[in-house]
Amino acid sequence: HAKADGRGTFRFFEPHMDVQLQARRALEVDLRKAATNGDFELFYQPQINIDDNEIGGYEALLRWHHPERGLVPPAEFIPVIEDTGLIVPLGDWILEQACREAARWPRNIHVAVNLSPVQFRNRGLVQSVSRALVASGLSPNRLELEITESVLLQDNEVTVSMLHQLRQLGVRIAMDDFGTGYSSLSYLRSFPFDKIKIDQSFVREMSQRADCLAIVQSVANLGSSLGMPTVAEGIETEEQLRQIQAAGCTDAQGYYFGRPRPARDLVHTLAALRQEARVA
Ligand code: C2E
Ligand code: MG
Ligand code: MG
Ligand code: MG
Repeated sequence: HAKADGRGTFRFFEPHMDVQLQARRALEVDLRKAATNGDFELFYQPQINIDDNEIGGYEALLRWHHPERGLVPPAEFIPVIEDTGLIVPLGDWILEQACREAARWPRNIHVAVNLSPVQFRNRGLVQSVSRALVASGLSPNRLELEITESVLLQDNEVTVSMLHQLRQLGVRIAMDDFGTGYSSLSYLRSFPFDKIKIDQSFVREMSQRADCLAIVQSVANLGSSLGMPTVAEGIETEEQLRQIQAAGCTDAQGYYFGRPRPARDLVHTLAALRQEARVA
């Protein structure tokens, strides 16, 4: 377990690095198997219009059912599927699956799909989105694509042009985890987003920390001045809901309204919504 470092000396790997490397390899192997075995599933979490307290849409969130470990959280495996490039074919599946499921929902309910920066490095992305829309029959104005600021860090001109092409398809683009990246404000100038999602780290602490509350309020104001709806992520309590409402956020998402659930668990809620729409 020694390696020449190019200067004629030897460096020894720490034993734990070996273990980490092996664990990582095993994870890669498992993920490739999962893709062929169909062990991935999309869960859906409601997004609520604060105005009328109604569900406006659902965010699709990827879940991996590991044969031995059970449900593995995305934070653990998304970096790996990004590094291995698996995110490209899997991302196509996510888009198509989310669009197919949403096509069965009431027409006023949208679906939000997360896109990885790696998908933007692939020229086929616009085509993939278009294909998912055609295959599912979902109206483009019911699809929202969530991207993070890190997408805009890579080849900016190409990315911005892809975003424009996506928007030309009729889909909306939301800026996710807003406030956690760098120079967020200039990104809002380089591309007209349809929605800003305020990162949950600010929401989590705004009850205890005046600076976090101030940030949430400023982003809500900014959104309102720019004509962009603002979603507060990670709402867990009624107090947080009251605060973001007072701040002027337009939408909310979080465990307070509902945890991410499998598509089949939405059926009853959606049937009730459809019924309401018929009565109204
Ligand atoms: P995200 O897009 O910001 O998604 C929101 C995350 O916050 C989700 O975690 C959701 O379960 C969690 N969350 C929602 N409400 C609450 C709350 O009230 N409290 C707390 N503590 N957490 C809440 P999840 O599902 O573990 O996903 C984590 C991240 O993984 C996502 O962050 C997104 O960046 C990425 N991800 C998930 N699914 C996909 C996917 O299909 N494609 C890509 N490219 N990334 C995905
Ligand atoms: Mg998201
Ligand atoms: Mg987020
Ligand atoms: Mg996130």
